[in-house]
Amino acid sequence: MQENNAKGTDIATLGEFGLIKHLTKNIKLKHASTNVGVGDDAAVLDYQNKKTVVTTDLLLEGIHFDLMYTPLKHLGYKCIAVNVSDIYAMNALPKQVTVSIAISKRFTLEAIEELYEGINLACENYNVDLVGGDTTSSLTGLCISVTAIGEADAEQLAYRSGAKENDLICVSGNLGAAFAGLQLLEREKRVYESNPAMQPDLTGHDYILERQLKPEARKDIYERLQEAKIVPSSMIDISDGLSSDIMHICEESKVGCQIYEEKIPVDYETHKMAEELNMNYSTFSLNGGEDYELLFTVPLDQFDAIEKIEDVKIIGHITDISKGKYLVTRDGVEIELQAQGWNPIKEE
Ligand code: ADP
Ligand code: MG
Repeated sequence: MQENNAKGTDIATLGEFGLIKHLTKNIKLKHASTNVGVGDDAAVLDYQNKKTVVTTDLLLEGIHFDLMYTPLKHLGYKCIAVNVSDIYAMNALPKQVTVSIAISKRFTLEAIEELYEGINLACENYNVDLVGGDTTSSLTGLCISVTAIGEADAEQLAYRSGAKENDLICVSGNLGAAFAGLQLLEREKRVYESNPAMQPDLTGHDYILERQLKPEARKDIYERLQEAKIVPSSMIDISDGLSSDIMHICEESKVGCQIYEEKIPVDYETHKMAEELNMNYSTFSLNGGEDYELLFTVPLDQFDAIEKIEDVKIIGHITDISKGKYLVTRDGVEIELQAQGWNPIKEE
């Protein structure tokens, strides 16, 4: 735990302005669209003839993350990754982020530096400028809000509302891994709480742990779609689970869908974790949250082009709204999809 114990520098020794200066002193701006970054009352951006895409997320300790098993560096990385993921989900390119934090007394300067190490690393990997934010104190725990800003040509934007009948439904990577990782971490936390002498057993689960603790936004898929000149007719990033997120597309696009269970990509480690917990792995891939994979539709005539894109799978197709929203199981049974969105609020 990153408790403010005997070691570590009290943030009060720097004060708010000192802390902001300290955290932002090494920022080097990368983009021409960033005219002014940190240091004035507001950042100044110049997007000329592009559309500007803006998204925000708020993450609260105890609700969205648990510092018992989340390293602060990973948390910093994740809060940038999940925001730029929303920009990619618009088929846009992220360019700037702002980061606002509220910190309680138990966080030392070193702890916040660790958080910013992750933030800075993600800003490098996703090629975005950190252009501002806000810093304040909190009575209870850590709170982080990130805003990401990106650009796209108007005709490149992919909305949730653009899916048409017969479009192919595509998904990147594999699903359910982050949820499997969370189940493992929560299990080991319970073991630890009931007997602190027990060491957590996380061996053989590296992949699902990484998917939970350090998720990546699919920058690579955005780039491959650009290279292939494919503009998805609709797109969303999977944050609540495939089931809810395909339903968002169907509802916004006023269409139905048919998804094939056997086509949904699931990693071996996710299978293994589901088995260990006596659960059906399809529950993970359909209803697990925080995959941050891209779910999108393309017209049927793009079939060959999509098949050439590595790490993208076709899992079904869009139907007329009157046909409803269905999952076809491995046994050929049609089940109506349900929005069992992943609920990040822990049991009270
Ligand atoms: P104001 O009083 O106008 O809110 P601040 O003193 O909060 O200004 O912020 C000064 C500058 O530092 C601003 O450019 C702001 O965007 C930036 N900033 C504040 N907190 C952070 C942070 N946590 N991360 C990055 N930039 C920050
Ligand atoms: Mg401020």
